[in-house]
Amino acid sequence: MKQRFLPAAAAGELAISFGVTEPDAGSDTTRITTTAKKVDGGYIVNGRKVWISRAGEADRLLLVCRTTPREEAEKPTDGITLLFAEVDREHIEIQPIPKIGRNAVASNSLFIDNLFVPDEDLVGEEGKGFRYLLAGLNPERILVGSECLGMGRAALARATAYAQDRHVFGRAIGQNQGIQFPLADSLVNLDAAELVIRKASWLYDSGEPCGREANSAKYLASNAGFEAADRAMQVHGGFGYAEEYHIGRIWREVRLLRITPLSNELILSYLAQHVLALPRSY
Ligand SMILES: Cc1cc2nc3c(=O)[nH]c(=O)nc-3n(C[C@H](O)[C@H](O)[C@H](O)COP(=O)(O)OP(=O)(O)OC[C@H]3O[C@@H](n4cnc5c(N)ncnc54)[C@H](O)[C@@H]3O)c2cc1C
Repeated sequence: MKQRFLPAAAAGELAISFGVTEPDAGSDTTRITTTAKKVDGGYIVNGRKVWISRAGEADRLLLVCRTTPREEAEKPTDGITLLFAEVDREHIEIQPIPKIGRNAVASNSLFIDNLFVPDEDLVGEEGKGFRYLLAGLNPERILVGSECLGMGRAALARATAYAQDRHVFGRAIGQNQGIQFPLADSLVNLDAAELVIRKASWLYDSGEPCGREANSAKYLASNAGFEAADRAMQVHGGFGYAEEYHIGRIWREVRLLRITPLSNELILSYLAQHVLALPRSY
């Protein structure tokens, strides 16, 4: 499968979308109800997905389905299967969700009706999909943390430049500690987030466990990035609200990443349970 798909995906010739989230399951992936029923030569899939980015352009969809109902599985995470399905528009209705940002790509509701997926498009073993999903989560969190860091740094650079240029009450607004301190505080928070991102990346590249660091990196960077963007908006005064200064764009984009791909609350739950060994809360 890697041979079949990854070179084309890396070359940008094969567009891929990732279908986990469902309207009624939320962050609890074990409660998905999209089912893949075994038939001769493959599976028949039925169900609904929501927020699936790029589905409209995708050739293939990494589809997370249940092959065994949750109540019949030994563990809630068992019985989940990954299919690398062709996006057959005869059997998948795709409806874009109007959204307040991230409009470079559409995110969509999917209505999947009797979609046939051949056996050759089953990823790994049936029923073990949840485990395979976990393997991709840490690098995704490091990547998302890095996006937030970049947006935070961009916002801070714009805020700093504006604070030098903008004169009010006869002097640059950046001469006021009320302007300087939040910006310097954001610098510290972004630098701290960057160090954790680098540590997480190094561990991941070295093949070491990095759940703690990858989750912390995403958490710290998404908070520091949004805080920097919000402060940049304040420093720009009314112009922070004008499209021309791009602060609003950064503000909207970085805000998303406190919610996706995993919300910051669920990241704290992970750290509480897996690092602090507190009881599972969800
Ligand atoms: C623009 C965009 C693009 C997306 N792209 C994709 C995609 O390509 N593929 C895909 O599969 N999904 C995608 N998603 C979905 C995204 O991953 C989910 O929205 C996200 O994981 C949160 O899940 P939810 O929306 O179901 O929130 P819910 O699970 O309904 O949670 C709602 C709120 O309650 C909080 N909460 C829930 N349980 C607990 C708890 N136990 N303790 C404390 N707080 C809790 C959550 O943190 C959150 O703040 C996208 C979403 C957006 C907005």
